[in-house]
Amino acid sequence: MLKSLLQWSVWPACLATNMAPVIIGAILVPQLVPQIAAATTIVLMSVLLVVEQLLPHRVDWAIGGDSEVWRDIGHSVAYAAAVNASRVLFLVSLGSGISALGLSDLFGLWPSSRSVWLQIVIVIMLGDFLEYLYHRLSHSYAFLWRLHALHHTSVRLHALKGARHHILYAFGRGVAVWLPLLVVGAPARLVYWQFIAVTIAGLTAHANVSFTIPAFMHRLAVTPEFHRIHHAADPKLGNTNFGVVFSVWDMLFGTHSDPLQIVVGEAGIDDDPIPRRFLEELKSPVTYATLVARRRGEHFVESASASLHERPDDLDRVAVLPGHELLDAECHVLADVETPLAVGREEMESPDRPRRDAHRSPR
Ligand SMILES: [Zn+2]
Ligand SMILES: [Zn+2]
Repeated sequence: MLKSLLQWSVWPACLATNMAPVIIGAILVPQLVPQIAAATTIVLMSVLLVVEQLLPHRVDWAIGGDSEVWRDIGHSVAYAAAVNASRVLFLVSLGSGISALGLSDLFGLWPSSRSVWLQIVIVIMLGDFLEYLYHRLSHSYAFLWRLHALHHTSVRLHALKGARHHILYAFGRGVAVWLPLLVVGAPARLVYWQFIAVTIAGLTAHANVSFTIPAFMHRLAVTPEFHRIHHAADPKLGNTNFGVVFSVWDMLFGTHSDPLQIVVGEAGIDDDPIPRRFLEELKSPVTYATLVARRRGEHFVESASASLHERPDDLDRVAVLPGHELLDAECHVLADVETPLAVGREEMESPDRPRRDAHRSPR
């Protein structure tokens, strides 16, 4: 009875206690909203880590025994600093410049005479649509996937994973989401509310808590069940549910997987090429093509070794292994780095194609 009550109440309670201090802060000390939002997130993350022990969604996703925890914290701190730097760059410096040059509200559509709260709602809705596009493009284009891949490397989902992003992804949001909002006339002081909404939704979306959420909420908002599908290692599932705050964009644009019908098995990136070291992860946007090539080379050697084991007298085949064929494989991959979306499409178009080796980097 108590457990059931907790399962029903934790998700709305988390959202309400995350929003309340920010809204009160916006009324009393609007200049401190970013700091209040950050402090609330840290407190609530700590609470969720405790709730995860009481009501775990999956025991094998527990924070205990997760060798990535210190790197999760490191990436979260670096990402928070990058978000702040991006806020100063786009919403203070660039926002003033755009306003001074008369480039804001280019179409004269922004309802600047209406209440501040209505403008905040529009910022969050419009900003979430732009965030959906940014996220979706990050799964379609190799150069954007390099900034986003780090977020998908987790094979466990818990409260520390939401902020496990690459620092460059924060600056990408400045270009893809904040800059368009400024150009259509959103006041720079209100644009940061888009990120506050992302943070509030993202914290619970990654929590390893066995929430009980009414079915209709999955159709409106990004819930943990909805977002876990996006973290599936299966590219066909991982390339759906791109919504960050509202789930309606995926239903409108045909990228929706129904959390009421799908249960996620394995999370992470199928055949993840990024080594599990902090600096390697930070460098990965630059080194990604090389890492993919190296991974392909490892597979080539593994499969050749298996062939050798099966056919020990086939010496002619073995003689060429370390040389030309491996180089050919690397050159081919460097010229054509696959994004997860490309892989997903390929598999959908060719149902007979064998599933790629699910081998992962050592952790
Ligand atoms: Zn993603
Ligand atoms: Zn996520």
